[in-house]
Amino acid sequence: MARVWARAERGLRLKSRAGVVIYSAVTESELEERAKRATEILKAPTEYKVCEGCESIVRRKAVFCPNCHGYRFDGDPARVIEQARVLGARPANSISQQDYS
Ligand SMILES: [Zn+2]
Repeated sequence: MARVWARAERGLRLKSRAGVVIYSAVTESELEERAKRATEILKAPTEYKVCEGCESIVRRKAVFCPNCHGYRFDGDPARVIEQARVLGARPANSISQQDYS
């Protein structure tokens, strides 16, 4: 009985440790990716627009926001630049990689 319990405990610990490793790896690459995307957007703000629903930055050709399915956008390049700076500087919140596809 004690043996089974010890094994289960070890399994749990391994699982949670692996989870932590995966989590931090994803967060790091995601931050890097976001910074890269923000730089791309800042280079060509006229290629993008800002969703009025969730403030995601989407490609100008997008009809619906991939994030919230909103259809109202602000295409003002000044707004895009402002939003790209905000999104590139903070951890993932209202934006995902699909926003850029
Ligand atoms: Zn949206």
